[in-house]
Amino acid sequence: MVSRRVKRGGRQFWQEFRDFAVKGNVIDLSVAVIVGGAFGKIVSSFVADILMPLINPLIPGGNWREIVIGPGVKIGSFAGNVLDFVVIALAMFLIIRVVIRQSPPPPPPVSERECPYCLELVPIAAIKCRACASELPPKSQS
Ligand SMILES: [Zn+2]
Repeated sequence: MVSRRVKRGGRQFWQEFRDFAVKGNVIDLSVAVIVGGAFGKIVSSFVADILMPLINPLIPGGNWREIVIGPGVKIGSFAGNVLDFVVIALAMFLIIRVVIRQSPPPPPPVSERECPYCLELVPIAAIKCRACASELPPKSQS
């Protein structure tokens, strides 16, 4: 008896896990993480391979990313990472702005409901219908 109950519990567990993995946002999240990782590589490559060769000649002293001051303070590497962050943040901002602009605006909040007696629209918090004067059931939170 005990083993059967355990088995059923296990099946239910895997069922719940499958629902979680398939229906939930796990797939979306995985795609986002993978795409985000690949996107980070693209941005790093863009900064290191395209942007920096254009900027480096303007800065005296060659590759400023390798500048080290004092006893091993890699100020150039730090500045490079800060620049990477700024470029990534800017790119994400531009992408998110486009995505937000393309997604439809959220529906307006429900402020009215139908009177069950005369089907006239009344404010959602009304306790008496303004059209037929019927007493209305208190609004449900659904
Ligand atoms: Zn009514």
